[in-house]
Amino acid sequence: MKNSRNLRDYTPEELEALFAERGLPAYRGRQIFKWLARPFVYSFSQMTDLPKDLREKLAQEFSLALPEVTKEEISADGTRKLALLLEDEEIIECVIIPEEDHYTLCVSSQVGCAMGCAFCLTARMGFRRNLKPHEITGQVLRAKEILEKEGLSEEKPLRNLVFMGMGEPLANYDNVLKALKILLHPGGFNFSGRRVTVSTVGLIPQMERLGRDIRVKLAISLHAADNETRSRLMPINKRYPLPELIAACRRYPLPKGWRITFEYVLLAGVNDRVDDAKRLAALLRGIPAKINLIPFNEHPLLPFRCPSEEQILRFQEILLAAGYVTTIRKSRGRDISAACGQLASRLAA
Ligand code: SAH
Repeated sequence: MKNSRNLRDYTPEELEALFAERGLPAYRGRQIFKWLARPFVYSFSQMTDLPKDLREKLAQEFSLALPEVTKEEISADGTRKLALLLEDEEIIECVIIPEEDHYTLCVSSQVGCAMGCAFCLTARMGFRRNLKPHEITGQVLRAKEILEKEGLSEEKPLRNLVFMGMGEPLANYDNVLKALKILLHPGGFNFSGRRVTVSTVGLIPQMERLGRDIRVKLAISLHAADNETRSRLMPINKRYPLPELIAACRRYPLPKGWRITFEYVLLAGVNDRVDDAKRLAALLRGIPAKINLIPFNEHPLLPFRCPSEEQILRFQEILLAAGYVTTIRKSRGRDISAACGQLASRLAA
């Protein structure tokens, strides 16, 4: 019979409590937590610093299952997309992006997405289900295994995480928060909060919780500088309108020296005019902000076009002149449908 409780779903605190309940010392929980953060660990029998009877008992009660890599695609630019099979046969994707001195992993937080953004392919899949914590941390482990197997992790580490794959992370708040706690804990994965970014369409109550619960970087998918345009592109804007979202950003408890990243997908003739750039500059005035312009990744199923390079540079120029750090996101892995907004395994299949 399959064990229903996966030990990888427990935060370090929960593991300790679990062990305390059984009259076991807390350091056993810490030992196990460390094993669970290591690639290539699939069974309790590998945890050789634990007593054998404990290992056997745990094996009867808990699973250590991880998503299985069913497909790996490598882009001409070195980006790798992994398709991962979950226990109920659902499929998610994550993307390993090589940067100069490290790798960034783009992780999914849901199977599909319920937000319905007009320009996003994942939206076309609809929402299927939330990911469990171990299905999120499992993406990190599988990526680490691949980098290690290929001898790539010696060159540079998997150091950054972005929650920019499939799904709306803050719509799966509890599981995402648990995964973040597991990933940031120094006794295990040990990611630095300043190298982990959670990207959201702007679910205001959950943004407020995140600000209280954990220190990670926040990115807001803004995509428009006026309320009407945003509502047309992102249905969530009707629930949490732009002025309220911006007000929530203004009161977000940012650690000193940190900025909020504002993502802005550029759609020809929709939100890419000089006036839009000026309005955006005015809108964000006073917020410690970084603007990340994303040239739209076109797809036959999506009714938008990417602006010309000239138009994109002009848009950036206005924001730079207004004093904002403004970058243009380089499209990575487009040839393997790994670029922003293109993760939709079911549709592609
Ligand atoms: N739901 C979260 C996490 C997804 S992040 C969020 O919306 O922030 C993925 C980013 O890619 C988002 O900013 C999304 O708006 C953007 N995106 C979606 N479709 C895109 C496309 N076709 N081209 C470029 N960017 C796109």
